Amino acid sequence: MALDPAIEVIDKRFYRYVIHNAHVDHLWTGARWTEGPVFVPAGRYLVFSDIPNDRTMRYDERTGTVAVFEQPAFNQNGHCLDLEGRIVSCEHRGRAVSRIGHDGRREVLADSFDGKRLNSPNDAVVHSDGAVWFTDPTYGIDSDYEGDAAESEIGASNVYRIDPDGSISAVVTDMVRPNGLAFSPDESLLYVADTGISHVGSACPPDIRVYPVAPDGGSCSGPSTTFATCTDGVFDGFRVDVSGNLWTSAGDGVHCYDPDGTLIGKLRIPEVVANVEFGGVKRNRLYICGTTGLYAMYLNTRGCTPLDRSGASRAVEGDDEPATLSAADR
Ligand code: MG
Repeated sequence: MALDPAIEVIDKRFYRYVIHNAHVDHLWTGARWTEGPVFVPAGRYLVFSDIPNDRTMRYDERTGTVAVFEQPAFNQNGHCLDLEGRIVSCEHRGRAVSRIGHDGRREVLADSFDGKRLNSPNDAVVHSDGAVWFTDPTYGIDSDYEGDAAESEIGASNVYRIDPDGSISAVVTDMVRPNGLAFSPDESLLYVADTGISHVGSACPPDIRVYPVAPDGGSCSGPSTTFATCTDGVFDGFRVDVSGNLWTSAGDGVHCYDPDGTLIGKLRIPEVVANVEFGGVKRNRLYICGTTGLYAMYLNTRGCTPLDRSGASRAVEGDDEPATLSAADR
């Protein structure tokens, strides 16, 4: 049976993750630049950013409607959920990482490092120990389009970790413009996209880098290697599924990489894609932020959450197995 034309199989391993009669849903249009989707299971809705319009939007999965969630919205970019299901937000204009508390109030988790203001936090991920890891490139201070133009006080674009006790440490300091980030299912690896090509051209290839994470989860324990180099545009945001595959944004849609770094397939989207998120009650629907629009597609896999990752860690500890998933596990 023919697959939907949006599905491009590059390696036969991709067949097991796509559904032969599923298709891309174009759910909404009307943004300038969509980014930062996060699915809130308890409410069955997706929050995503429209950064230049300084608003966040809310897609209601039950009714299929989209409405403004917050405006003004500190030119928020990336979002994720913490371990209590609260939305964590990366704010360009606020130059901060914040969280919506259970009482609805905005709580700032980080807005400076070593006494200097952050640049413009871009994307965040939560570790199963509750720490928030986030990237801090300059896109929100490079112009007035996606925030307020300003000079960088820190003078570098780093990845930071906010400990559950509130302390902040720099965990990656050798990238040009770190952007999207995610952990492997066993949290032994941190993937980070570098979009520094925007500032230094070919001196910074459009890569996803991969860093080993220290066993205590508190830092990266070694230098990075190249996981993949983008073949169309740049990698911006991405998510990891329960099998360890990376589903990443790219210029021509969504690219899927096996954990061994092989590009195994694509979902072709008619706009440049900035970020993706697994949602739905079974977390098997990939939401796709594509420039002016919101898209979605059901897949035969599920997104990996911090709770999944902590479960995976406990399982391998108990079994005395190496802290990586074997091919059979995948
Ligand atoms: Mg981004």
